Amino acid sequence: MQNIRIVLCRPSHPGNIGAAARAMKAMGLSDLRLVAPEKFPAPEARWMATNAVDVLDQAKVNATLAEAISDCVHAFALSARTREWSTPVIDVRAAAAAAAAAGGPVAFVFGNEQAGLTNEEMLACQTLVHIPANPEFSSLNLAQAVQVVAYEIFMTSKPETGKFRTEKPATIQDREGLYEHLERAAIESKFFDPASGSRLPTRLRRLFSRVPDLEREEVNILRGLLKALQQPKSK
Ligand code: SAH
Repeated sequence: MQNIRIVLCRPSHPGNIGAAARAMKAMGLSDLRLVAPEKFPAPEARWMATNAVDVLDQAKVNATLAEAISDCVHAFALSARTREWSTPVIDVRAAAAAAAAAGGPVAFVFGNEQAGLTNEEMLACQTLVHIPANPEFSSLNLAQAVQVVAYEIFMTSKPETGKFRTEKPATIQDREGLYEHLERAAIESKFFDPASGSRLPTRLRRLFSRVPDLEREEVNILRGLLKALQQPKSK
């Protein structure tokens, strides 16, 4: 997701910066901004980033939040505490969906480990975002909050899911062939009488329509089975 920027405001622990970089890279994000980090660059950040040091090396450091988000079309402020806030508060899933639909760079802004975001930082953003959690203990570790956001963005866009599918999907023609075959087998076996007014063909169609990712091979298996059942039984 090229349009997503992760902004960490005044992070105190460099280890969290590294862990955030790793969380981002695992979810396909790379645009990291650090606003006035207490200690950066730092070896602890590199340790925690492991193989995501490229994200760290590309991270830009800004003096103020305003500078870090000025070219964005929308900024989401992440907060564990939402009660005292009056502008719209949405959950992280809704925010990820909104970000995916945005027409330009979008920032997700995180606060300092101890103090969270200041009121001024929150006001610089348009929407407040909450990660639903235990009301008695709703504050996540900074890098873990970044992970949840990055994961939700990944799931919204699902950029690579199609890639993992190796089986050929069934075409409409494959489906129609299966329906026709099922009906024929049902008639031949006397399970179904077309004159009876039974809605069996429609019911079977509905059943398979609920499998939108039906595979061609699965259709072939079912048709092979029908064919075997249709063979006259050998004595
Ligand atoms: N003690 C701080 C929490 C800081 S945690 C406070 O009470 O605000 C560091 C940052 O992680 C937060 O500023 C916020 O950006 C993010 N974060 C942690 N838990 C979160 C949650 N449940 N929802 C949204 N953001 C969260």
